[in-house]
Amino acid sequence: MVEPKPHACASPFAAGREIGRYGDAAAGPTLVVTGGVHGNEPAGVVALGRVFRELEQRRPSVRGQLLGLVGNSCALAQSTRFVDEDMNRVWTKTAVEQLRRQDPARDHSEQREQRELLAILDPLLAAARDGDPRRRALLLDLHSTSGGGPPFIVMGDTLQNRELAFALSAPVLLGLEENIEGTLIEYFGAGGNVAIVLEGGQNEDPRTADNHESAIWIALVTCGLLDASAAPDYERHRARLRAAASGVPNVIEVVHRHDIEPHNEPHFRMIPGLKGFMQIEKGRLLAHDGPHAEAQVTAPFSGVLLMPRYQPKGLDGFFMGKTVEPFWLRVSAVLRKLRMERVISLLPGVQQNHHGPNTLAVDPKIARFFTLEFFHLLGYRKHVEHEQRLVFSRRDDRL
Ligand SMILES: [Zn+2]
Repeated sequence: MVEPKPHACASPFAAGREIGRYGDAAAGPTLVVTGGVHGNEPAGVVALGRVFRELEQRRPSVRGQLLGLVGNSCALAQSTRFVDEDMNRVWTKTAVEQLRRQDPARDHSEQREQRELLAILDPLLAAARDGDPRRRALLLDLHSTSGGGPPFIVMGDTLQNRELAFALSAPVLLGLEENIEGTLIEYFGAGGNVAIVLEGGQNEDPRTADNHESAIWIALVTCGLLDASAAPDYERHRARLRAAASGVPNVIEVVHRHDIEPHNEPHFRMIPGLKGFMQIEKGRLLAHDGPHAEAQVTAPFSGVLLMPRYQPKGLDGFFMGKTVEPFWLRVSAVLRKLRMERVISLLPGVQQNHHGPNTLAVDPKIARFFTLEFFHLLGYRKHVEHEQRLVFSRRDDRL
């Protein structure tokens, strides 16, 4: 745990949580767009500012509401990833419940930010739970990377997330939630809400805010809030994201995370010149993660390098993934629309777990003819071993 300390964030940036609010929540879904969840990633906040200025000038009619929020205002004011704790790792059920019980006077910097965000998000999520499509809540969380490379999307593999993600025409990373706990999209997406992250490019690159801006307009149209004809330069926005991601595989499954030990955090350094989405051969030297030159980190297999850490903070060194063929995406969409998981739970060795309909317990001895990939096709990505069973869980497909 982080030692609580008095909150001292006297900055004009830190004062505002809401960047803007446009439209009418009673008239349709609410699209929440967050920027600056990591304080060294200001591009999303810049992009939101532009979109709200444009909306206020043109006053188009929208069916629903766009809400723009600053994720971590104090860290943003200091241009640092976070002050006390990574704001995109604090959204597990346990951490949120603990925060609700905690005396606010004991909050550290990110807990104070999180408490303010919860006060805005919880009423929206509660309204979305009644299933009325006009009260849907959707989240586009705008990030950027220290290492650069093309824009890409991170999300749980649900059919409703796919719709928004594919409309943005940036490559999609699946399975990252298997490797990262406590992200904002995990919290927001629980219960079947659309929740995706767009990594727009390199933190300081001016093109990153451009990519984010385009993504917000495309999301407004895709979520049904705005007609394409009412979005300024809509085709240019679509072309911009398509061009930024050209030549990169459409869908990549994340299968490896290089976890940095907390005591090695200050020592970790990537080999210079590596970029996200580079094809890497097995055994290639990627980083050093100790004070000595012999602390070498090499690629565990041949695949795609993702999110190499070129900033001083954070315990995610880099990720590696494998390309998913479009054919398998189509197959999995069909299987899931047919609700194949109901049939699977009738098979020997497979049981619906008592944790609910999105959890399966598999006896590895009986069900060994099922491959991991088969469960992945149905959207089950997380798996843990529990009482000699393999327990798979997945996000909700709300159809
Ligand atoms: Zn980020």
